[in-house]
Amino acid sequence: MAHLTFLDKSFHIHWSKLTPESVELSISQAIGDAQKSIECITSLDLSEVSYQNTLLALEEAVEPLSVAWGKVSHLQSVCDSTELRAAYNKMLPLVSAFYTSIRLNPKLWERIKAFLQTHEANALSGIHKRFLEESIADFKEAGADLSPEKRERLSQIQTKLAELTQKYSENVLDATNAYELIIEDESRLKGLPLHAKKAAFESALAKSKATQEKPAWRFTLHAPSIEPCMMYLEDSALREQLWRASSSIGSVAPYDNQGLIKEILSLRDEKAKLLGKSHFADLVLQRRMAKTATTALRFIEDIGERASVLFKEECDALERFKTELTHAPQGPLAPWDIAYFSEKLRQKEYAFDEEILRPYFEVSQVIGGLFQLAQRVFGLTITERTDVETWHPQVTFYDIKNANAVHVGSFYADWHPRESKRGGAWMNYLITGGPTASGKRLPHLGLICGNLTAPSKDTPALLTHREVETIFHEFGHLLHHLLGEVAIKSLNGVNVAWDFVELPSQIMENWCWEKEGLDLFARHYQTKEPIPEELFQKMIKAKRFRTACMTMRQVAFAKMDLLLHINTEEFIKADDLESYLRSKIASHLIPTNPKAPTIIRRFTHIFADPVGYAAGYYSYKWAEVLDADAFTRFKKEGIFNPKTGSDFVRTILSQGNALDPAELFRTFMGRDPDIQALLLRAGLVGAA
Ligand SMILES: [Zn+2]
Repeated sequence: MAHLTFLDKSFHIHWSKLTPESVELSISQAIGDAQKSIECITSLDLSEVSYQNTLLALEEAVEPLSVAWGKVSHLQSVCDSTELRAAYNKMLPLVSAFYTSIRLNPKLWERIKAFLQTHEANALSGIHKRFLEESIADFKEAGADLSPEKRERLSQIQTKLAELTQKYSENVLDATNAYELIIEDESRLKGLPLHAKKAAFESALAKSKATQEKPAWRFTLHAPSIEPCMMYLEDSALREQLWRASSSIGSVAPYDNQGLIKEILSLRDEKAKLLGKSHFADLVLQRRMAKTATTALRFIEDIGERASVLFKEECDALERFKTELTHAPQGPLAPWDIAYFSEKLRQKEYAFDEEILRPYFEVSQVIGGLFQLAQRVFGLTITERTDVETWHPQVTFYDIKNANAVHVGSFYADWHPRESKRGGAWMNYLITGGPTASGKRLPHLGLICGNLTAPSKDTPALLTHREVETIFHEFGHLLHHLLGEVAIKSLNGVNVAWDFVELPSQIMENWCWEKEGLDLFARHYQTKEPIPEELFQKMIKAKRFRTACMTMRQVAFAKMDLLLHINTEEFIKADDLESYLRSKIASHLIPTNPKAPTIIRRFTHIFADPVGYAAGYYSYKWAEVLDADAFTRFKKEGIFNPKTGSDFVRTILSQGNALDPAELFRTFMGRDPDIQALLLRAGLVGAA
């Protein structure tokens, strides 16, 4: 049936058939099917419950819906259109209500509890025991033990949270897209690197705002457009204009997120209290590595303290530098001056301009190098397939085989911005394969997306080093899914604690900072020369530039997130949420004049999903401790050492959520995590 296209199980997805019109029928059908399968479980006599007919049956019941809905939400993030958004928004409340209803189904819970009392449950071991424990915890966390009235309220909260967070995220995207700045006076673009200027001209051409004869330049609030402006434009009025537009994202009607924030926070708080926790942060963290909000907060404040002296020095140094250059009296910079003068200071102190690196990072070279690395370290062979349909002509498809030539998985890569695509970079999965009960191992299917610098008419896509890191980062997440060898799909790959999930991704970035690693792929796109040693040394030194400021920025985000979810009532009561929040994190913010607003109205990490990174932003730093520490093994044993690589696959990448993450880490390192490697890498302590 043509209209059930989202339920098609083909490994090679027929994207062109996944039309907005088929969303409703497919998803309604999938929900109906899942409901029927769940009814089979709930009609079981309590005496006949088994692992197979409860836990496994439940997992199988929901899978087709999860796969179908995964495709819908994926398309929504890469090919947004009015029709698709309408279909998505129509089905979203039904889908989230359905998921919520599973763990609030008293008959289901009764059967799982009955199973828990059986000899079979007692005798479970390994992944099956873990699955039982995780399922019980999922049910409890979802409110299975609550009274019927409280359960009802909880499910209303969930549905409402899904809607509000979706709206929050749409507001950010729409506000970003609604803005453009057309400059017709070329003299105002002084300082802007050539590639950025060219991109702005092409963007204006594409939007019919310019012609070859009458040129104009179009700027947007998407990162590849605005970032070079903030760093290089000499015209400070223009920088101010862009900065004001960017920092007002999410605070101006019709895309105002301010009301949504309090509503979201208040629902999360209510949810936590219903579940017997004093706040949302403790609810979320009980199954993370950190376990409690107190531990996470203490961790993040500790990092803040360790960075504080250097942070103050860096802020003062930038103020002094601006005074030197401009002869203006010393004092806090304007927020739109920070990136600009930082870049100037960096060029002065390190004689290093990040833009010099771009020619060495042509996107296909970078990807080729990444694949070579995957081959040498993890024994993987990656081949592009041109005979597989994708959702857009810019998208490429690859197969991955392991050292034994087993097809472990495939993935799509979609690297450049489009208007219909959301911002940022991310990894996701569409199909979970892995070992099956029949002994056959099925391939996984995943994807990586980004908004990297696009090619222009006569130049290939030349990336910044940060963009190169992004590719490596998302590829790490991807491997976590594709190399999974977990027999229970819902425990595979990235379905791990959020403060552990960034270990596989962040560790990959380390290879972008090693000369040997860079030499695999960093070749000047015209001369084919590798990065000269001198330039590499400069790059390494420049990495430490304003390191405490960068650390403090993460500390501020993490602390803001934790405080909002610990002391929620205080924040909701505050008349002026923005200034109240600001006062709580003031010591972690770079002093500016005027004061820069916090990112709370466009903080999609914590507000674009019912949970997402909420109360979990600290995880980035937490996982940095893990990745810096774990990479010391590669440093010691050789960054291309296949033995170390295969240990990493065996103990971490293939394990998903099969074991407690602390245990996985211990198996790889032979001990608990140590913060020193991170402090050293970030230059927050000197080498011993
Ligand atoms: Zn990540």
